[in-house]
Amino acid sequence: MFYKSTRNSEVKVSSAQAIAQGISEDGGLFVPSEIPAITLDDIKALGEKSYAERALFVFSKYLTDFTEAEIRYCVEGAYNTKNFDTDNIAELAHLFDGTYMLELWHGPTCAFKDMALQILPYLLTTSIKKLGVDKKVVILVATSGDTGKAALEGFKDVKGTEILVFYPEDGVSAMQKKQMTTQEGGNVGVCAIKGNFDDAQTGVKTIFTSKETADKLAENGMMFSSANSINWGRLAPQIIYYVSTYAQLVADGEIELGDKINIVVPTGNFGNILAGYYAKHMGVPVNKLICASNANNVLTDFIKTGVYDRNRPFHTTISPSMDILISSNLERLLYHLSGSDDAQIREWFGSLS
Ligand SMILES: *Cc1c(COP(=O)(O)O)cnc(C)c1O
Repeated sequence: MFYKSTRNSEVKVSSAQAIAQGISEDGGLFVPSEIPAITLDDIKALGEKSYAERALFVFSKYLTDFTEAEIRYCVEGAYNTKNFDTDNIAELAHLFDGTYMLELWHGPTCAFKDMALQILPYLLTTSIKKLGVDKKVVILVATSGDTGKAALEGFKDVKGTEILVFYPEDGVSAMQKKQMTTQEGGNVGVCAIKGNFDDAQTGVKTIFTSKETADKLAENGMMFSSANSINWGRLAPQIIYYVSTYAQLVADGEIELGDKINIVVPTGNFGNILAGYYAKHMGVPVNKLICASNANNVLTDFIKTGVYDRNRPFHTTISPSMDILISSNLERLLYHLSGSDDAQIREWFGSLS
């Protein structure tokens, strides 16, 4: 398995390289060269296993350049009861007949982002080591509220890393601002920007793809990476809880193996729901993935009409993590739907910006 850039199919890198780098030099996102298949029997067997073991199974399909011991080190470091307040890590609550809620808030910052950001530092430092890179990694993060705190908490005092978070001054909740500005750790930085999340994300992407900045950084023995869901290392861990939840529903006798489920996902940067898309295409029986938006409903409009119109008022809502008009990960979905047509993606995203 290797990873290609959505904007240049010629770019082929290992998963360690994709995770270490975060984003491709051409501005494209890394996508797996194929979506690995799992069987219903695999899923059934996972029902007997712990969350960390389920994670080990799913990661082994995507991180084929990692050894089993390396993946084990990552999943056991992240998915344990020191970091999460429940053995199950992702708790499944039965709401009412046929309806369940996946509780992804049992991590240290109470945001579902912990599911990925508790393991990303392990994946990233392991990747750097594997690649033999002798550089300090500088993580840049744009946040609409939750990612910032969860990333800071994941990377605080992780050796060989520095983390700098940019958040929209008036675009996060008072609680989120407090969470970030009181962050502990010797390698952390937080910066408010004038503008909204899209401005923060565009700014960070510009820094990432600037050759001049990269050269300057290299001179000083450093390199950039990303903790946003543009990084494959953020997305891959999110696939796990979809596979895990289906296995749990079967193990609990709530559904029969093979029954199809619908999944509703509150959506912002399209990372979480895209992880569900990967799970579905791996073989988890999913009927529909339902994209839920708030007043910033650019994605629901796009799915209904096929037109992505970012020229619309930006609403500041009570769910700031969904206040996003430029959904990065949609690029990955369109790449897969277009049959890996990198020229088409370059054209579409060129015209979008
Ligand atoms: C991040 C976040 C979202 C949006 O998830 P995406 O992966 O960006 O689509 C929705 N709700 C909450 C609470 C979040 O923290």
